[in-house]
Amino acid sequence: MRYLIISDIHGNLQALDAVLEDADRLGYDALLVLGDLVGYGADPAGVIDRTLAREPRAIIRGNHDKVAAGLEPPSLFNDVARASIEWTAKTLSAEHLKILRDLPQGPKLAGDDIEICHGSPFDEDYYVFDVDDAGRALEAAHARFCFFGHTHLPAVFATSPDPARPADDLAEDEMRLPTSGPALINVGSVGQPRDGDPRAAYGIVDLARNVLQLRRVRYDVAGAQARIRAEKLPEYLATRLARGQ
Ligand code: ZN
Repeated sequence: MRYLIISDIHGNLQALDAVLEDADRLGYDALLVLGDLVGYGADPAGVIDRTLAREPRAIIRGNHDKVAAGLEPPSLFNDVARASIEWTAKTLSAEHLKILRDLPQGPKLAGDDIEICHGSPFDEDYYVFDVDDAGRALEAAHARFCFFGHTHLPAVFATSPDPARPADDLAEDEMRLPTSGPALINVGSVGQPRDGDPRAAYGIVDLARNVLQLRRVRYDVAGAQARIRAEKLPEYLATRLARGQ
């Protein structure tokens, strides 16, 4: 079973299209979506439509989806995030806002071995940045592999070391996952990477091979920036895409 895992798309249709094209080429069986479909980017409706058209096996909401849907005030948002989420809420149709409002809260089991959450398995809005956060999250995890997003930073935390097995069947961007003990995995952000690499990030986990593939895909950054500028969203949202920050 190969799961395609995407998170933090943030209204960036150019990045999502590039990711889906890359994933189609590699092949997958089921799609898991970890939230934050909207916010920051200029094509929230397109991202919602494109994502749902792929019939995700499991999908959960992120904090931006919640605020756009009016489930929560933007009190924790900075000025740029607030400006973009207010624009998003104003721009989306009632149908699209209802879709966001109805997105389930994580964590959610997506199979015997896989759990998904937006921030962490104990709090959907909690940021897992370091090993202390990851320790709490691993204790709270309900499945062998717990996928999370929210930080926009790819990361793998595990309690048991990688099995010492020959790696010659692995591609360059693949890694073996621990066979025992849980692992907490962030595949990065499709639409707003923040690790200094502007390429869109996503992951594929192959349960038969026990392998995680962390993909980076070039996309039409200039196109996404042009859309942000055309909608008169804060300029910073356009410039940060080119820096991956
Ligand atoms: Zn996000």
